[in-house]
Amino acid sequence: MIKPDAVSNGHTGAILDDIIKGGFNIVALKYIRLTEDTAGQFYAVHSERPFYKDLVSFMSSGPIVAAILEKDNAVEDFRKLIGATDPSKADVGTIRNKYANSIEANAVHGSDSDENAQIEGSFFFTAFERF
Ligand code: GDP
Repeated sequence: MIKPDAVSNGHTGAILDDIIKGGFNIVALKYIRLTEDTAGQFYAVHSERPFYKDLVSFMSSGPIVAAILEKDNAVEDFRKLIGATDPSKADVGTIRNKYANSIEANAVHGSDSDENAQIEGSFFFTAFERF
């Protein structure tokens, strides 16, 4: 997912370009805005964390781009491409290093396991929308 900060700062095209050049195949792509309710559902796993309310508010503050990506070793390789959660700790050249502003407004989301990639892909896309 490209988060609201990166979309509103005009980085959508550059980030998609980095993703494609990183060897990922885009299987499905959608430009939408989450509500507080849907953002809360997406991040339900963090509902007990102190930053949950702010995160839900940020994630529903503007449009996002959701994508299903395909690659061998996709989960691990995507996390290498995006860098650490906190952009100040993200390696030079990673997406968060180049385009993120803060630990919360950190430009992109990536699934942390194959299982969660399935769940999160199904959150945004029906079977009909995947080719
Ligand atoms: P990720 O897998 O790298 O996205 O990191 P996490 O799963 O740990 O956290 C989910 C998202 O919550 C992050 O991408 C940030 O947008 C946000 N987040 C994580 N840690 C913090 C924090 O300490 N403060 C705030 N405000 N947001 C955070």
